Amino acid sequence: MNETSDPSKKKEPFRKGLFNLEDQDPRLTGIQCERCHISFYPKREFCSNCFQSDRMKEVNLSKIGTLYTYTTVFQGKPNFSAPYSLGFVDLKEGLRIFAPLLDVAPEDLKIGMEMELVFRPMDWVSGQEESWVYGFKPRKGKNS
Ligand SMILES: [Zn+2]
Repeated sequence: MNETSDPSKKKEPFRKGLFNLEDQDPRLTGIQCERCHISFYPKREFCSNCFQSDRMKEVNLSKIGTLYTYTTVFQGKPNFSAPYSLGFVDLKEGLRIFAPLLDVAPEDLKIGMEMELVFRPMDWVSGQEESWVYGFKPRKGKNS
C-alpha cells in the first residue's frame, strides 16, 4: 500500500457512499437519526432504534478513534504481504469501525491507543488505482 496515486484518475471509494474523497477533509460518511441521535456506518435507510426513515441525515464521522481490539495475520497471499493487522476502532459517535491498521508494526499496536483515519488507493490489488479504501493508523505523538 502507498499514498501515491495517478491524479488523472478519479478517486472513488471501493464501495459507493462509504466516504467522499472530493472533500477537503475526507471522512467516513455515516448517517444519523435526528430523532434518536444515533449514528450508523455504513449508511442505512432507516433507524434501527425507532424504525423511522424521515429524519436520517448524512454526517461526516470523526477521524480520530480508539483501538478497541485487533488481530494480526501472518499468512500472506497474492498481493497481500504478511504480516498485516486488522482491528476495530471506536469513534466518539458510538460506532465501532472494522478496518485495516496501516503504517504500524504488529508489535507496536496497543489496545486503547489513539488511531487516525487514512485513505489509500487499492493499487496493491490488481492495479485498481482509482479505487480507494480506508484504514486507521496510530495517531502521531499521541501513543508514546
Ligand atoms: Zn431513530
